[in-house]
Amino acid sequence: MLAEIEQLLVLQDRDRKIRTLRQELKNVPLERKDLESRLASQTEQLNAVKQRAKEIEVEKKKLEVEAQAKRDSIAKFKTQQFQTRKNEEFQALGNEIKHFEADIQQIEDRELDLMEEAEKVKSSIAIADKDFAQAKTQIDSQLADLEGKVGSLEKQLAELEAERTTIAEKIDEDLLDRYSRLFASKGDAAVVPLEHEVCMGCHMKITTQTAVRVRGEKEVVSCEQCGRILYYAE
Ligand SMILES: [Zn+2]
Repeated sequence: MLAEIEQLLVLQDRDRKIRTLRQELKNVPLERKDLESRLASQTEQLNAVKQRAKEIEVEKKKLEVEAQAKRDSIAKFKTQQFQTRKNEEFQALGNEIKHFEADIQQIEDRELDLMEEAEKVKSSIAIADKDFAQAKTQIDSQLADLEGKVGSLEKQLAELEAERTTIAEKIDEDLLDRYSRLFASKGDAAVVPLEHEVCMGCHMKITTQTAVRVRGEKEVVSCEQCGRILYYAE
C-alpha cells in the first residue's frame, strides 16, 4: 500500500474517533436535561398528591367550622323555643332547627367522604414518596455518571487530537488539505477501498483506467464520481 494512503488511513481512523467523541460530548447537555426533567416530573407528581392532602385538610376545617356554627344556631333556637310563649314562633324555630340539622347531616356526610379520600391520599403520598426517593437516587447517580463520562470523553479527545496533530504533521500539506476537505464534506470517509472496481464511498463503478491507476499504487487516485481517495483492497 502507498505510504501516503497508510498515513491517511491512520489519520482517518483518529478523525472518526474524534468525530464520535465530539458527538457524544454534544449529546451530554441533552442527556442531562432529560434526566433533570424526569426528576422534575417526579417532584411534580409528589407535590400534586401532597397538595391534595392539604386541600382536604383545609376543606375539613372549613366544614367543621360551618357545622359548629349551625350547632350553635340550633342551641340558640332551642333556647328561644324554651323562652317563647307563641305557638307560631315555636313552630318556626322548630322548622329552622330541622333545616339546620339537615345541613349538618350533609356536612357530616361530606366530612366522611373527605376522610376516606384523605386515607387514600395518605397511601398515595407514601407511594409517591418512595417512587420519588428511588427516582432521585437513580437520576442523581446517572447525573454523576454523566459528569464522569464528560471528563473521560474530554481526556480521550485531547489525547486523540494530540495524536492527530502528530500524524498530520507527517503528511504532505496539499494531500492533507485534499483529505481534510473530503473528510469534512463527505460525512463518512475521505479514503475508501476500491472493491471490484467499485468505489466503497459512493458505490459507483469507476473506469478501468482509474482502477489500473489505483492498483498501480504509485499515486493518490480519486474516485471520478465522488472525489474520495481510493485504495486497492482486493
Ligand atoms: Zn466514489
